[in-house]
Amino acid sequence: MHNPVLAAPVKLQRTFTVTNPASLEPIAQVGDCGPEEARLAIDASVEAFGSWRRTTAYERAALLMKWRERLLAEQQALGELLSREMGKPIRESTGEIAFSATFLEYYAEEAKRLPGALVPSQSGQKRLLVSSEPVGPVYAVTPWNFPASMVARKVAPALAAGCTFILKPAELAPLTALRLAELWLEVGGPEGVFQVLPTSDPAALTKVMMDDARIRKLTFTGSTAVGKSLAKQSADTLKRVSLELGGHAPFIVFDDADLEQAVEGAMASKFRNAGQTCVCANRFYVHQNVLEEFSERFVERVRALKVGQPLDPQTDIGPLVSAAAVKKANDHVQDAVQRGARVAIGGKSGDQPGHYYSPTVLTGVPGAARINSEETFGPVAPLVSFTTDAEVIALANQSDYGLAAYYWTRDLDRLFRVSEQLDFGLIGVNDALPSTAQAPFGGVKQSGYGREGGHWGLEEYLVTKFVSLGLGAK
Ligand code: NAD
Repeated sequence: MHNPVLAAPVKLQRTFTVTNPASLEPIAQVGDCGPEEARLAIDASVEAFGSWRRTTAYERAALLMKWRERLLAEQQALGELLSREMGKPIRESTGEIAFSATFLEYYAEEAKRLPGALVPSQSGQKRLLVSSEPVGPVYAVTPWNFPASMVARKVAPALAAGCTFILKPAELAPLTALRLAELWLEVGGPEGVFQVLPTSDPAALTKVMMDDARIRKLTFTGSTAVGKSLAKQSADTLKRVSLELGGHAPFIVFDDADLEQAVEGAMASKFRNAGQTCVCANRFYVHQNVLEEFSERFVERVRALKVGQPLDPQTDIGPLVSAAAVKKANDHVQDAVQRGARVAIGGKSGDQPGHYYSPTVLTGVPGAARINSEETFGPVAPLVSFTTDAEVIALANQSDYGLAAYYWTRDLDRLFRVSEQLDFGLIGVNDALPSTAQAPFGGVKQSGYGREGGHWGLEEYLVTKFVSLGLGAK
C-alpha cells in the first residue's frame, strides 16, 4: 500500500486503486485520506510553517537543490512510475522529470532574490521598509496529466518563499507525487513542510481545507468547472487563489510560414501526451493558399506515429487516461463528421486493450463543430481554412478560454501585430513548446488567473509587508 506523506502518524483502513490505462490492470493500492487526515495535515502544516518561514533563503535553496539532484538521479524510475500510472510514453515521462527538476533549480536560485526595498521618506526621522513574507500554509490541487511537473511548478516557489505545502494529487495518478514527497524527506526536507494526501473523494477533503482560515493560499490546476467551485469556496476565508484551468489553443498557419517547421510544431503541440495537455493545439487554422500542402505533410507525419505501450521507448502515442477520455475524443470526431468534416486519418479507438484512440486529422471542419469550442483532450486535429488576418484573429479569440495560442509566420509585421491582438496568456510564435521554468505561464478569461514560472510564480506565494520606522528627533 502507498501511504500518504503526512507529518502525523495515521493508520488508514481505506484504500483506493490506481489502474494502468494501457493494460487496464490495477498497479497500486493507495491510502485514501478523508476530512480527519486533512485536519491533521493542516495542524502539521501550521506548526511546520512557524519554523520553515524562519529558515534563511540559502538554507531553503540548498534543500531544493539537493531535492533536484535526487529527482535527476531517479529520473528513469520516476519516469516509469509516471508512465505506468497515467500512460504517457516513457520518453515524455523522463522528460517531464527533467522539466520538473528545472523548477526546483530555478526557485532555489530565485529564493535568494526575494524582493525588498528601503523607500525614500519625506521625513529625515522615518525609514520606510518593505519586505516579502511567505503567505502561509498552502493547499494545492493538481491534475493527472503532468503528475510531476504540475507539482514541481507549485511546490518549488512555495517552499522557496517560506510557505508550507499540502498537496492533493489527482486520484487517477497520485503515485509520482507521493514519491516526490518521499524524496523530499530523504534529502532532509523537514516533516510537515510538504505533505501529500491522496483521496478518492476530493470534494470532502478539499472542503476541510477551504473552510480552515489557517490555509492562506489555494493553488489549483484542473478544469474550469472545479476551479470556479474552489474560487467560490475560498471566499469565506479570503484565501489568495491562483487557477490554471482549461484551454482551447488555436494553431494558426499563415501563408508565409515555413511549412516544414509549422508541421513539426503541429506534431509537437497536438500529439504530446496524446493531446492531453492544457496548452495542446485544439483547432488548426490554415491559410487556404497552403492548406493542401500543409494537410498532406501533416497527415504523412501522423501516419508515421507509433501507437504503443507507454514503457516502449519507440512509442509516440500511449493510451488516454480513461474510457471517458476515449469517448470524448470519439464524440468530437463523430460530431464533426456528422456536420460534414472528413476523416483524413485515424478516427477510431485502438485495436489493443487499454484506453487507446488513434491519432486523427479531420479536414473541412465546419465552425459549429463542438471540437472548435470544447476542449478535446485527445489526439484529434481539426483543420479549418481562412483567408485574412482579421478573420483568423476573430476566430481564434472567439473561445471562452485564453490559455495558449500559436502562430507561424516569417513576416515581421505579423510577428508583432498578431500576438498583440490575441486574447491569450501564453503565445508561441514559430514555437510549439513555449513553457519554461523562468517564464510566466497562465491564462486569461475562463482559463483562470495567476501565473506560474519566473518571479511571477514566486510572487503568488508572497505577501508584501511595510514597516514604517520612526527614529525620533536627533
Ligand atoms: P479536474 O478538474 O477534474 O481535476 C483536477 C483536480 O481537481 C484533481 O486533483 C481532482 O481530484 C480535483 N477535483 C475534482 N473535483 C473536485 C472537487 N469537487 N473538489 C476539489 N477537487 C476536485 O480536471 P482533470 O480532468 O483531472 O484535468 C484536466 C483539466 O485540467 C483540463 O481542463 C485541462 O485543461 C486542465 N489543465 C490545466 C493546466 C493549466 O496549467 N492550465 C494544466 C493541466 C491541466
